Amino acid sequence: MVKKLFLVTIVISMIVCIFSGCSKAGDKPKVENNKVLATNEEQNVQSQSSQSEVNKMIDEKISTSKEEKVEQKIEQNSKPVVTATETKPDKKPTETPGKADKIVYLTFDDAMSNNTVKILDTLKKYNIKATFFPNIMDKPENREFQRQMLKRMASEGHSIGNHTASHNYAYVYSSVDNYIADTNKLNDFIYEAAGIRPNILRFPGGSNNQVSWRYSGKEFMGKQLIPKMKELGYQYFDWNVSSSDASAATLSKDTIIKNVLNGAKGKQKAIVLMHESAAKTTTADALSNIIEGLKAMGYSFDTLTKDSYTCQFTK
Ligand SMILES: [Zn+2]
Repeated sequence: MVKKLFLVTIVISMIVCIFSGCSKAGDKPKVENNKVLATNEEQNVQSQSSQSEVNKMIDEKISTSKEEKVEQKIEQNSKPVVTATETKPDKKPTETPGKADKIVYLTFDDAMSNNTVKILDTLKKYNIKATFFPNIMDKPENREFQRQMLKRMASEGHSIGNHTASHNYAYVYSSVDNYIADTNKLNDFIYEAAGIRPNILRFPGGSNNQVSWRYSGKEFMGKQLIPKMKELGYQYFDWNVSSSDASAATLSKDTIIKNVLNGAKGKQKAIVLMHESAAKTTTADALSNIIEGLKAMGYSFDTLTKDSYTCQFTK
């Protein structure tokens, strides 16, 4: 019934429009053109000497075979037009702008382990992309496994950043040269395994770590290392939500979920710190609940790249 009424309105509008010289208006019966046609119709009616004259003109137009063709054309085209108006409000709002602005970046640090496999499986299940800051501090016999993991991360659309090869504070924070050498070592390995050379990094312990003070003093991070790594083209990422899964060897699953979801509350952009190393079984177990919780809070998920939002403790 509504459809019929809609079509009749279009036909009448077009006829009036065509008659009054509004060319091409009827060629494409788009929905947005209806407004224009309706406006023209109103104007035409007002400008004509009388309503009866308009009606007469309409009658003449309807009787022509030309108009029958136009009507057929509208009929043929009516389906997609109506479909578009009906489906648009249903489909688009699922990607509402407000929700799209709320972004969470899941990040996983440290030595790749069986938990990395579990994490990748869960991310795949939810079709969510995350960011990994792995290191390769484990024994050399783990290299093949690490290669496989890195390759899988890249092929499944995750972002990979540098977290130094050794993650050895005493070594990497002893000098800028050591830090660069260890970063290059890991980047070479990542490139060999996954074909990408990361230009993003996370400093072991974060950019404000106090462990580095022990080896190079309080100003090492802010005055030496950070400026140098930036100069070399790296962007670095700390976090504004911590799962605190590093606060104990293996924190309870429920605590990890609670920490992440509470930590993300009220944040438009959230970079979540988690770990993928062997002891972090509960982090891998908590991931499904974390993803579902964040989704329910209206977050969409994204990966960190050099140009993305960042969170830095030390500038
Ligand atoms: Zn780390």
